[in-house]
Amino acid sequence: MIDTPPKGPAKPDPTGGSDFVGAARGQCPRCGAASMFDGFVRFAPRCDDCGLDYSAFNVGDGPAAFLTLIIGTIIVVLAVWLELAAEPPFWLHIVLWVPLTTLLVFGGLRIAKGWLLIAEYKRGAREHGGRDPGARPSDSDRVDGSK
Ligand SMILES: [Zn+2]
Repeated sequence: MIDTPPKGPAKPDPTGGSDFVGAARGQCPRCGAASMFDGFVRFAPRCDDCGLDYSAFNVGDGPAAFLTLIIGTIIVVLAVWLELAAEPPFWLHIVLWVPLTTLLVFGGLRIAKGWLLIAEYKRGAREHGGRDPGARPSDSDRVDGSK
């Protein structure tokens, strides 16, 4: 079942008004229960409290691509700055940047994925079985090879 945000008079936002905070807490965008994640960055199939189907949303790889670019830029700028300012031994770069990068990627991925799911819910964006239901069948969908 495809769920849409409720229409009518504005109701209090179950995520507390901040998509970022709601994502960090893993809150369901419909009821506010902390049920969005089944693991650290893996979505649960549905909300345990209200039944919202999280698999109907297509978050995709967008958050990972943005995080790679943003975190990569931050880490490289900091590493170059540190090298030019203090010329530390190479092992210090390893000890600093590897754990920091890992922490930022995993923490940021959870928040970015949750934030994107909340944004899709609030704007009514949905995935319909992988393609637009109004789209014409493509040649690859035909089993008999006819055109
Ligand atoms: Zn819910």
